[in-house]
Amino acid sequence: MFTKEIIEDARSDPINHFEKIRKNIERNENEVNSFITLLLDEAEKEIKQTKEGKLAYLLIAIKDNILVEGIKTTAGSKMLKNYIAPFDATVIKNIKKEGGIIIGKTNMDEFACGSDGTTSAFGPTRNPLDLEKVPGGSSSGSAAVLAAEFADLALGSDTGGSIRNPSAFCSIFGFKPTYGIVSRYGLIDMAMSLDQIGPMAKDTYGLALLMDVISGKDIYDPTTIRKPTKSFTEIIENFKDNNLKGKKVVYAREFLDYTEDKIKRKFFNVIDYLNSLGLEIIETSLPEIEYAVPTYYLVVPSEFASAMQRYDGLKYGYRKEVRDIWNTIMESRKVLGREVKRRIFLGTFITSREEFGKWYKKAVLVRLKIRKRLLELFKKYDYLVSPTMPVLPWRIGEIQDPLTMYQMDVLTVLANLVGIPSGSVPIAKSVGFQVMGNLKEDHKVLELMYTVEQKFSKFIKTN
Ligand code: GLN
Repeated sequence: MFTKEIIEDARSDPINHFEKIRKNIERNENEVNSFITLLLDEAEKEIKQTKEGKLAYLLIAIKDNILVEGIKTTAGSKMLKNYIAPFDATVIKNIKKEGGIIIGKTNMDEFACGSDGTTSAFGPTRNPLDLEKVPGGSSSGSAAVLAAEFADLALGSDTGGSIRNPSAFCSIFGFKPTYGIVSRYGLIDMAMSLDQIGPMAKDTYGLALLMDVISGKDIYDPTTIRKPTKSFTEIIENFKDNNLKGKKVVYAREFLDYTEDKIKRKFFNVIDYLNSLGLEIIETSLPEIEYAVPTYYLVVPSEFASAMQRYDGLKYGYRKEVRDIWNTIMESRKVLGREVKRRIFLGTFITSREEFGKWYKKAVLVRLKIRKRLLELFKKYDYLVSPTMPVLPWRIGEIQDPLTMYQMDVLTVLANLVGIPSGSVPIAKSVGFQVMGNLKEDHKVLELMYTVEQKFSKFIKTN
């Protein structure tokens, strides 16, 4: 169903709407493993109360690194297996204020480190479109619940592609807003300078609806900026295809060197269509992309290792008490998974005094160069587009080598390094089309996504 139909359905008979979702969950969740905490009883109580607001009676799934007061928040880790969130994240406060009902906390790669959902301490999530395959990650559960119709809307977080990647693999819509447009207060941080909470939905309208609710300045997050005066839903509702006539769409040749042929073909179908609508298509060269993944994988561990220092078994989280405080810290931290440990080691090493200039400092400089180059590009062009993922979903467990896994993020990390908005639209089964725009031009990105949706996303609307 489209989001507007979902809204209709939920408002006209909330209990019946809830029961349909409950049935889907009871039938299929065992196989998919998309939730870490299911809140069916709580949601049932809520649905019987009168709800008002933009999200009235809608069932929303929340990635398990976003705090919901009184509810377990694990970040996909044994470290936080029993951690109860003491307050609501700002985005959650806003969702509740608008009448949204939280249906559960979704499975994810441990502390959001991963690209396919397999690093979760609670077992991998399966792709509802093909249960042998990965759903993408790290917001694996949030994408899967939409594809499996276990929720109406979802929130994910995106540090290097974690909203867009699973959106592509599960054939749903995902959007990473401009850095700062959505508050990160109450998000368990992975790499602060890149993290962003964002919406996931069955269509662009659903993304716009959630953006209206979650975006805006927040005194608890000093990096937040004001939201645009016009609402995102209004922009989508008043949008006509020919509004984009003459807009300049650029893609980089190098993006396609990384991309599988089948995906390339689908990508060019969209390009041809946009051209036929009167948008101007430009091919460019962006050799910087070669440095995107290496830069990202130096910045992330550096910030991540520092963020992870708080999990010492003393303040909160898992604690294994042994003879003295140092051994207690050491033993407690052993509960962390392999990928998380790998990044802590790496980040600690590259930010050590001896190594600092060699790695971290260089990465920061290259990041600035990439930023400069992309922002220059947006002075001339309106959009930068690419496939969202270079390949189709792989089999669960197929990719074991970390470097191969990291390379899967090649097309998504640019947007985070620069802070620009970026969304993924499904254009074929498990294939996403990525739209990037200039800083604070989130509405414009949604407009192009909406245009692509009208022509290419119908295939997911059959159920
Ligand atoms: N796959 C990327 C990583 O493992 C992105 C993670 C994310 O966006 N949270 O770092």
